[in-house]
Amino acid sequence: MSRVAVVTGGTRGIGASISEELHKAGYKVAATYFGNDKAATEFTTRTGIAHFKFDVGDFKACHEGMGRIQAALGPVDVLVNNAGITRDAFLHKMTPESWSEVIHTNLNSLFNMSRSVIEGMRERGYGRIINISSINGQSGQVGQTNYSAAKAGVIGFTKALAHESAAKGITVNAIAPGYIDTDMVRAVPPEVLDKIVAKIPAKRLGTPAEIAHMVVFLASEKAGFANGATFTLNGGQYLT
Ligand code: NDP
Repeated sequence: MSRVAVVTGGTRGIGASISEELHKAGYKVAATYFGNDKAATEFTTRTGIAHFKFDVGDFKACHEGMGRIQAALGPVDVLVNNAGITRDAFLHKMTPESWSEVIHTNLNSLFNMSRSVIEGMRERGYGRIINISSINGQSGQVGQTNYSAAKAGVIGFTKALAHESAAKGITVNAIAPGYIDTDMVRAVPPEVLDKIVAKIPAKRLGTPAEIAHMVVFLASEKAGFANGATFTLNGGQYLT
């Protein structure tokens, strides 16, 4: 029987590639999103993967949304916490809204989503949770106190939940991508992006598929001894 995987922010960018690679690997996949209905509809038309709309920063919405997913596909075996946003500004200019939106979407979402699946995973004695952090949660980045704090928090959350869950057959790992060619990175002004790429030893952006392949491995039964780890995939840009 196919295992069920949920990918938050699974209709665009890195998440879309993760959804597609898990689908190819035989999982029943639910891709979530929140704002961009057009992209979600196009994604489902192109791939046949179902989309579900709810805000990962809202605990009640996640509980209700995961109820809909589980009613449609069955109990969730694999959760990929991928949805994320940026609201960049130097701290001395950052608004409380920009701080809170990023913390809600990029960090509180891990609690909201994982809380809704962890009891079932513990009861069934199996689960895979994969959290998408960032190079900027490891290194820090100017203009991103909100984002860097959230993404560093993702790594701490991953370690703590791995400790709690390992004895129940559940693994919890993080991936820290470097700069990947998606809408999020294309929003960076081209002159700034050129300088960033020049500093990447690989001399290029990463591709969404390069992140997705690692997710497929971590989601598999073969990856059962990888737990609490952060996998750094950044073309050699920042070595931890
Ligand atoms: P994109 O901006 O291309 O896509 C983001 C996805 O997240 C979209 O599907 C979006 O939905 C969804 N999303 C945003 N806010 C919410 C919300 N409140 N509730 C539910 N879904 C939401 O991002 P990327 O693919 O570039 O990034 C994916 C992840 O990888 C993020 O966590 C990001 O921080 C991380 N990352 C990205 C890097 C990069 O270089 N691109 C580098 C390091 C980490 P909708 O389509 O409806 O807007």
